[in-house]
Amino acid sequence: MEKISVAVRFRPPAAVDPSPDRIWKVDDNRISLHRPLGTPISGVNFAFDYVFDPSYSNAMVYDLLIKSIIQAAIDGFNGTAFAYGQTSSGKTFTMNGSEEDPGIIPLGVKDVFRRIEMTTDREFLIRVSYMEIYNEEINDLLSFGNQKLPVHESLERGIYVAGLREEIVNCSEQVIELLKLGEANRHFGETNMNARSSRSHTIFRMVIESSARDSMKSGDVSNADAIRVSVLNLVDLAGSERVAKTGAGGARLREGKHINKSLMILGNVINKLSESGKQRGHIPYRDSKLTRILQPALGGNSKTSIICTVAPEEVHVEESRGTLQFASRAK
Ligand code: ADP
Ligand code: MG
Repeated sequence: MEKISVAVRFRPPAAVDPSPDRIWKVDDNRISLHRPLGTPISGVNFAFDYVFDPSYSNAMVYDLLIKSIIQAAIDGFNGTAFAYGQTSSGKTFTMNGSEEDPGIIPLGVKDVFRRIEMTTDREFLIRVSYMEIYNEEINDLLSFGNQKLPVHESLERGIYVAGLREEIVNCSEQVIELLKLGEANRHFGETNMNARSSRSHTIFRMVIESSARDSMKSGDVSNADAIRVSVLNLVDLAGSERVAKTGAGGARLREGKHINKSLMILGNVINKLSESGKQRGHIPYRDSKLTRILQPALGGNSKTSIICTVAPEEVHVEESRGTLQFASRAK
């Protein structure tokens, strides 16, 4: 297991920012908190692998943080990238992006197919799936009505989501169409576009299988490298905001508790993984659907990146501190 890469990304401030003085100060890869008049607050000083200010495009974030995960996935290693942060901090912008600045999912998909074309000595089979975890229930975003899917484990398949649609794909355009279908399903029946999507985790998954062309010809399957299977997960997490603050009750409160619990468990799992082997002890994968589904890709031979997105405005300062604390625990 390689070290987990942790990046912090600030989105641009809202057009009408009541706190135009920067309260977060960025020095290379270090962040500190300054109150409006520029006095540093002691004890709030964090260092990360990367800090992206708003001048960084999705393409730059992709090149610095995600490209190597995609390359490793082609080479047979599992990979996972997360976007973590409060609602409106830029998670979905980072993952999906816009027309002008496509996010790391479309960039990653294009890169996978480009690299496959360059790898002439192997033959590839690519499958994609797209799912949502909402209130600890797994729903298929590629097959409407295919909901509350169970997680199973078998010797043959390992840990898997039973009944999840897995589509074999041959080009990036096909995947982009599936992503659109998934987005439409994700928002179906929503009055407030952001309401449900900010309360669910979404996992976009590519399974990349390849076999060496030579060994296929000669029938040489003794070569361990003849067949490789890797799983790539690109995860847009539920908003990390605290429930209490939003004054939620009933259904909202229940959603919030599930989210906070699963993000806390994710934090615990990542924290354990970033410890060196001996001290590690028990890793609580089974405590949430999210970590259970990701277990095969997080442990073992894998690459993981976390992009913690931050809203720069002063009203969000407490949530932002929480996000940076999560980020610094993950290192
Ligand atoms: P989240 O998914 O965390 O709730 P969004 O990705 O929806 O947040 O971002 C909230 C708003 O801010 C959106 O209108 C989005 O387009 C914009 N935004 C977020 N990050 C950036 C960025 N880096 N550059 C430009 N606009 C951004
Ligand atoms: Mg979002």
